[in-house]
Amino acid sequence: AYTIEQVKALVREFVDFPSKGIVFRDIFPIFREPAAVECLVSHFVERIQATGQQIDVVVGLDARGFLLGPLIALRLGVSFAPVRKGGKLPGSVAQVTYEKEYGADVFEMEADSLTKGQRVVIVDDLLATGGSCGAAEELVRKLGGVVVLDAFIIRLAELNGDKRLEAPVYALIDC
Ligand code: IMP
Repeated sequence: AYTIEQVKALVREFVDFPSKGIVFRDIFPIFREPAAVECLVSHFVERIQATGQQIDVVVGLDARGFLLGPLIALRLGVSFAPVRKGGKLPGSVAQVTYEKEYGADVFEMEADSLTKGQRVVIVDDLLATGGSCGAAEELVRKLGGVVVLDAFIIRLAELNGDKRLEAPVYALIDC
């Protein structure tokens, strides 16, 4: 069995990826070890349950939020709903445009993936500026949902992403 400290140690850093000056954090080594995934998922489920709040939906962000999100939702016995980059989801969608480092980007959710008043945990691998998660919070609100917690494996603390977010933030690793 893995301890959560052993799981944290599996995250690797790549200097100058995808471009010069960026330190990329890679979570995929965790997913090579089923026992590490088990430990990670249990840890997040415990943190979510510790809020004492009812949860109805786990929302995962494109694309690495799709790895952890459904596992947490399954364990909680609740729905999973994806936030995707613009143009990927069929049917009626809610849409938000947000600013990235180089220009605007679009996030979408299926209009029927949430119902009014449902309580949501947003999950992603990494919080940087908070632009992505802030846009996801806005999408959830557009569909009438309430964000109870934003949960990440990694937070780049000096970028102060929390300040752009309305809901409380949990991060397993601060760097
Ligand atoms: P933000 O919108 O600035 O908070 O950036 C967060 C988004 O960028 C998340 O969806 C992350 O998956 C992605 N991201 C930024 N830096 C990294 C990294 O070092 N590793 C993995 N994903 C990253």
